[in-house]
This record gives sequence, C-alpha cells and structure tokens, in this order.
Amino acid sequence: KAKAGNERLVFYDQHMTESVAEALALENKLRRALERDEFVLHYQPKVNIATRRIVALEALIRWNSPGEGLVPPMKFIPLMEETGLILEVGAWALRQAALDHQRWVQRGGTAPRLAVNVSAVQLRKPDFVATVQAALACGAEPHGIDIEITESLIMEDIEATIGKLHALRARGVELAIDDFGTGYSSLAYLARLPAQILKIDRAFVKTMLDEPNSLLLVSTMVSLAHSLRMTVVAEGVETEAQASQLLQLGCDQMQGYLVSRPLPFDEVTALFGR
Ligand code: C2E
Ligand code: CA
Ligand code: CA
Ligand code: CA
Repeated sequence: KAKAGNERLVFYDQHMTESVAEALALENKLRRALERDEFVLHYQPKVNIATRRIVALEALIRWNSPGEGLVPPMKFIPLMEETGLILEVGAWALRQAALDHQRWVQRGGTAPRLAVNVSAVQLRKPDFVATVQAALACGAEPHGIDIEITESLIMEDIEATIGKLHALRARGVELAIDDFGTGYSSLAYLARLPAQILKIDRAFVKTMLDEPNSLLLVSTMVSLAHSLRMTVVAEGVETEAQASQLLQLGCDQMQGYLVSRPLPFDEVTALFGR
C-alpha cells in the first residue's frame, strides 16, 4: 500500500513523462524545421526619437511552421536552450543576418546595422567568438552585425564573458545590454562590460506614465547609461505620449509598435526606402 508521499511521487512522475514526451516531440519538430530551413528573421527598426529616422534593425526569429503558421520565439527558444539546439539555430541567425545585411549593401547606399539576439548558452561556449566571426565572414565587408545579450545572463562567468565581448568589440561588433533593469546586475560589472548600447526593458516603458517610481527608474537608467557613454534605447514604445516623455528624459532611440512591428525582409526594406 502506497503512502501519501509515494502517491504524490507517482502523480508527479506521470506528469513529467507527459511533458518530457511533449518536449521530445517539439524538439524533433524543431530539428526538422532547421533541416527544412523553416526559420525566418523579421526585423524591427530602432529609430532616433527626435528625428524618427531608422538607425538600426533588430533581428527577431520566427518559425514558419507549415502546420501552425508563424510561431513566436518564446514558444521554442527555451527548449532550444535546454537541448543545445540554440547553438545551431543561433549560428544560423547570425549567418542569415550577415547575408541580409549584404543584400542591402549590394543594393547601394547605406545599409542599417543589424542587431542579433544571442543566448547565454551560445555566449558560454569557448568557441563563441569564432562562431560569430565565421558568420560575419558570410556577409559584406565591413560587416554591420551587432549583438544583444540579456543583462541577467551576462553575469554568469563574468570574467570569461568580458574577454569574449572585448574580442568581438575589437572586430567591430557592438554590444547591446538587453532587457536592462529586469536582472540582478552589479553596477561595477556594467561599467566593465564593453557595451555601447543599453536597452530599457519594455516593462518600464509600459508603466512609466502611470507610476512615478517607474518614471524615476527610466530617468535613472538614461542618466546611468549616458554617464557610461552608452546609447540608450527604449523598448516597447506604443504611444506618442511615451515617445515624448522619453525624448524629454534624453533617451536616444526607441523601438516599438508606434514606429513598426517586426517585419519580413522585403517589408522592412520598403520602410527605409530601397
Ligand atoms: P527581446 O529581444 O526583448 O525582443 C523584443 C520583443 O518585444 C519582441 O518579441 C518584439 O516583437 C516585441 N515588441 C517590440 N515592440 C513591441 C511593442 O511595442 N509592444 C509589445 N508588446 N511588444 C513589442 P518577439 O519577437 O516575440 O521576441 C521575444 C524574445 O525572443 C526576444 O525578446 C528575444 O529575447 C528572443 N529572441 C528573438 N529572436 C531571437 C534569436 O534569434 N535568438 C535568441 N537567442 N533569442 C531570440
Ligand atoms: Ca533584443
Ligand atoms: Ca529586450
Ligand atoms: Ca524582453
């Protein structure tokens, strides 16, 4: 006869088996998707808040699934990070961005810089710098690829990370600290990172017009970034009221539905008039 504790264990096991099976099925689908080239990059503009001119584009991955349509990254990136599949997909995203950048260069005129999101799983690998360099070599010279890294993830193994980021910086890759304000970073580390761009998480932008504390935090993040000579980008700007508040606070750039949603290559190309 089973004790209460055992029953709970059995129940837990069944639950786990179910979710493991589901995860395995998804993992297989994702591997097939990679083989069949079903991932796509969409691009969201970053604009100067004062002039509204496009200064760069952020690459955001989607899975163009024949069955389910366009699947957002939050549905598959976490599993890819667990299984290591993110290493292949992340390398693909860097190469694809380099190729897209090259297409714009070949059309003449100035091509905007492209920022690619990088996972901590990629960053932790000893060959991360070599992987980025190999991807850059697929594109035009000089390359226009930058990377975005989520703040909380940089703080693991900080010494090795700083070394890699310096190596990339020396090769012309700019670094943006993503989702700033949501992690637990140390200000001392922030000052040591070779980062040029600080991105204020959209949670703060969303609440800043209603919550005085939130506004204060945004204002403090802008000052902090500027005193470290970083460019500040506000994420998730949806209204003109938010944009004018950010302009008043001295924030440099913004991204968000107010300006544009992430768009496929051809549509974003039309946006910046080519
Ligand atoms: P993120 O880097 O913080 O990207 C911003 C997310 O906010 C994007 O979601 C974007 O579509 C969304 N967004 C932009 N403007 C607005 C707005 O005005 N309002 C609202 N509500 N949302 C807005 P998305 O594309 O679903 O990406 C989610 C996350 O997935 C990204 O967050 C990033 O962490 C991750 N991700 C995307 N592409 C890649 C990739 O190639 N590699 C890795 N490792 N992660 C990626
Ligand atoms: Ca990002
Ligand atoms: Ca972000
Ligand atoms: Ca985010």
